[in-house]
Amino acid sequence: MSYPVTCNRCGDTNTAWEIVDLIKNHTDGHGNLICQICGGDAYVYRESTTQDGGTWERYIRGAVPFRTQFGRRFVPYIFLVSYSPRGKPKDVHFNYYKDLRPDGGTLKHGHGPGGAPVFGKAQILKLLEHALSHQVLSRKDLVAVVSSG
Ligand SMILES: [Zn+2]
Repeated sequence: MSYPVTCNRCGDTNTAWEIVDLIKNHTDGHGNLICQICGGDAYVYRESTTQDGGTWERYIRGAVPFRTQFGRRFVPYIFLVSYSPRGKPKDVHFNYYKDLRPDGGTLKHGHGPGGAPVFGKAQILKLLEHALSHQVLSRKDLVAVVSSG
């Protein structure tokens, strides 16, 4: 699946040919999608049909992979999603890919050990760190969660 990355600054579109390319070559050090030409902030528009026949339209604004005990071949990652090209990310979309190309296999979106992505404490803390820095969550939100427990 390819990812056409469109720049909010210069309007140019560069395509990432698969998820590893998108994460490696079209993000800054914080996971934000950026333009390969001018470095401006960018997005990938996606539209999916939901199981109830509706449409989920969103703008992928960031892609953040997570290290796990399963090494480099099985990689959970999140998309930071907004609902307009320049909007701040509001949702975190969990995904997973398997890159078996180094062993002569293929790259695919799959399910890791046990089915869904497996997150330990380190991944959860990393997720919270990104959610804070991308303002998906505020410190106030986290304090409210901690206080309610
Ligand atoms: Zn640009």
